[in-house]
Amino acid sequence: MLNRLTIGELTARLARREVSAREAAAACLAHSSRVDSAVRAFLHQDPDRVLAAAEAADQELARGVTHAEKPLLGVPLALKDVIAVRGQPLTCASKILANFISPYDATVVARLKAAGAVLLGRLNMDEFAMGSSTENSAFGPTRNPWDTTRTPGGSSGGSAAAVASNQCVAALGSDTGGSVRQPASFCGVVGLKPTYGRVSRYGLVAYASSLDQIGPMTKDVQDAAILLRVIGGHDPLDSTSLPEPSPEIPRLDGDIRGLKLGLPKEYGVGGLDPEVKAAVDAAIQTLSRLGAEVVEISLPHTEYAIAAYYIIAPAEASANLARFDGVRYGLRVDGADPVEMYSRTRGAGFGAEVKRRIILGTYVLSSGYYDAYYLRAQKVRALIRRDFLRAFEKVDAIVTPTAPTAAYRLGEKADDPLQMYLGDIFTVSCNLAGICGLSVPCGFTAAPRLPIGLQLLGPPLGEATILRLAHAYEQATDWHREQSPLG
Ligand code: GLN
Repeated sequence: MLNRLTIGELTARLARREVSAREAAAACLAHSSRVDSAVRAFLHQDPDRVLAAAEAADQELARGVTHAEKPLLGVPLALKDVIAVRGQPLTCASKILANFISPYDATVVARLKAAGAVLLGRLNMDEFAMGSSTENSAFGPTRNPWDTTRTPGGSSGGSAAAVASNQCVAALGSDTGGSVRQPASFCGVVGLKPTYGRVSRYGLVAYASSLDQIGPMTKDVQDAAILLRVIGGHDPLDSTSLPEPSPEIPRLDGDIRGLKLGLPKEYGVGGLDPEVKAAVDAAIQTLSRLGAEVVEISLPHTEYAIAAYYIIAPAEASANLARFDGVRYGLRVDGADPVEMYSRTRGAGFGAEVKRRIILGTYVLSSGYYDAYYLRAQKVRALIRRDFLRAFEKVDAIVTPTAPTAAYRLGEKADDPLQMYLGDIFTVSCNLAGICGLSVPCGFTAAPRLPIGLQLLGPPLGEATILRLAHAYEQATDWHREQSPLG
């Protein structure tokens, strides 16, 4: 069951030459062919190419290349279909890019390849990363490996489901308002959203450029630290990339004594499921037993976060998606003149949620409404960031639920966009503030048995602190060892 291993476990066995990269990749592919008709995490796989890449990794291992030189040598990973890999499909789960092949590698992909990773294929998502359930994919929803009548979360639902069903060793997703952390929570895996600017966005198809970050989705906390180390660090190809080098893997020794944890008093909102609340409360007690000091803090502008996010994100999306015009990329539906061609192409190519956001975003940016909506939302955003920076003067990290509920049924919220948006209450502030956050498994609901996630938020460039806290918590609990029925 090599596909069940973590990056840490697999690289140790590869280094000892107990197993080969080819065997590891073949185990993932074989498991996919057994379970993915039920999960539908992958949009594209090319087994011959995967096995060839794995054999190349084996040759390097045979030549004595070490994991100190190439930390992911021989490790099978899979990517959300919004991250460009040269020569592979890049659909963003949209009809408008259904036949598009990427001509270049994203910076994170260049770094994964340089680190020796074997790329397994393309993972399903909400179209252009807009959604929280993967039901907005033009190619059909992904299902939660813990209960296939339920959503895996979104928008990186394919990534979370692929990791939770052990079809890959780890994956990358992208997080604009929670799309790495919330599906990680729904599927019982670890998901990390780095500080804005920590990981290059070059080659990540833009949804909302001031919020988007690529992040690791893994089976344990150490793997998230390993992946962040590989993909992070300054990139001259992304003008918003921070100058800092990639973070070292922090000392994950379980010692969190003396760290201060903030509990925001505004986060006890209505709509928080009692089982989620109980699991998160118990996790906070565990962290405090391990030596963290828990104090109450205030993030007074929390109640405006969803409203600000659902103005700013669609505004940026409406601008970013203007490039899909039937000329430069992907689908074209001809018309009598260029304007008709443009509107027919976009009418046929984009799904309902993407159109809703383009309309919303265009509206809030239009001259009569810019001041009332967009400008005001930007001011609220600045206040939300200030709330966090003030809180981080007093505490090292902040602890919350990742999502107000466990995974809901497919179709349960699909026709009610507002209900879907409200589920993002605990995750969007992190992106608006540009700070870092992660979700780590912290329990299960009783019946049906579904994973629950704990969110840890850290200050700008504070990944080491939240990784240390999450790792100490993980070592003190067994949640991450549980396997989904399709794992
Ligand atoms: N659910 C949020 C949205 O629909 C977040 C999506 C994301 O992080 N990509 O915009």
